[in-house]
Amino acid sequence: MLQPLQLLQPTTVAEASRALAELGDKAKLYAGGAELLLLLRNGLLDAEVLIDVKNIARLHTVSWADGLLRIGACVTHRELAANSLVRQHAPALAYAESQVANIRVRHQGTLGGNLAFNDPHSDPGTVLLVHDSSVVIGNDKGERRIGLDEFFVDMYATALEASDLLLEVEVPSLPDGMKSAYQRLHRYQRPTLGVAAAVRLDSGKIAEVRLAAGCVGPKAQRLSELEGKLAGASLNEARKIIADEKEYLRELLRPVDDLLGSAEYKLYMTGVMLGDAVEQASQIS
Ligand SMILES: Cc1cc2nc3c(=O)[nH]c(=O)nc-3n(C[C@H](O)[C@H](O)[C@H](O)COP(=O)(O)OP(=O)(O)OC[C@H]3O[C@@H](n4cnc5c(N)ncnc54)[C@H](O)[C@@H]3O)c2cc1C
Repeated sequence: MLQPLQLLQPTTVAEASRALAELGDKAKLYAGGAELLLLLRNGLLDAEVLIDVKNIARLHTVSWADGLLRIGACVTHRELAANSLVRQHAPALAYAESQVANIRVRHQGTLGGNLAFNDPHSDPGTVLLVHDSSVVIGNDKGERRIGLDEFFVDMYATALEASDLLLEVEVPSLPDGMKSAYQRLHRYQRPTLGVAAAVRLDSGKIAEVRLAAGCVGPKAQRLSELEGKLAGASLNEARKIIADEKEYLRELLRPVDDLLGSAEYKLYMTGVMLGDAVEQASQIS
């Protein structure tokens, strides 16, 4: 059962950060509460104070300028799926957001909460990786920016420190002619697997490609070595190269057997879905 909790409602990043520093482990940042309230209700997490970050205005904005989409941490999945700037500049992200869970979770859960929690079975992080996205982290002393690949440290672990807030996600537009696609496999609400590809073809061959895989192991990851091997390949050759790189994928992604499937099944399907995502991205006009 949920114990009575004190709710703080700061309106600035500095105020929220100071409250975190002063209260330590007793306090938790609270955005949509989709994850947090479940954990508290089930006794998996202790807190006496919730610091609601939704009154900090800058965490709610979505803007685009000079090839960079900026998304505030408190923008919900549902808002992102429908946002015209996101649909125009990062359509695969809008699609991934539209696939998250169900209408209740999409309405309640925020992008910042999703990335900060870093549950391995999540959607948006995988697409954000092929956009070379960064996150802006803030506290009462200032702000810093790090790449999303560095932000995701391990399962449920990120580069956020004790008095940090995730403020914004910066999503660069893809280079000219490059298109992206997200493919998701699910038996339950959370994805069993999710892969993203961004591709530019030249005369039917892969000129540029970016790949990411999520949900297979502890965290979503870019597949940089595999990307290098696909340069100059046709779509059929790309499928074969991906299938031959199973050991690379195993070592990098560290798949585990769980209720969603065996490690072997996840590896095999990741390869198939990467090939599908490359093909899908290459067919977008
Ligand atoms: C039934 C169910 C199904 C789901 N299915 C999917 C799915 O299909 N795909 C998917 O991607 N996700 C899925 N999720 C996860 C969901 O997307 C996340 O729970 C949600 O986005 C978390 O956002 P929130 O705002 O509710 O975070 P909260 O629950 O409020 O917080 C989550 C964590 O992030 C921290 N936090 C929140 N905001 C910040 C911030 N600005 N800075 C630093 N730390 C912060 C909190 O302290 C807490 O530790 C599912 C969740 C549920 C409950």
